Amino acid sequence: MTYDRLVCANCAAPVSEGRCPVCRANRERLQQESNFFAGLNPMALIALLAVLIAAVALLAQQTA
Ligand SMILES: [Zn+2]
Repeated sequence: MTYDRLVCANCAAPVSEGRCPVCRANRERLQQESNFFAGLNPMALIALLAVLIAAVALLAQQTA
């Protein structure tokens, strides 16, 4: 997730430069969101894998 191209509505400068309090608040929020997604993705992958394994086990039971 990138916010390099986001322009601040308050100072019209790139948010990533953090020139005004609005920029800094937005930057902080976006960084927290990207951290959240970075932490979420491995968990989502594990959950997906568990669902896949369960589906395969179910199919194996039905065909046996
Ligand atoms: Zn700004």
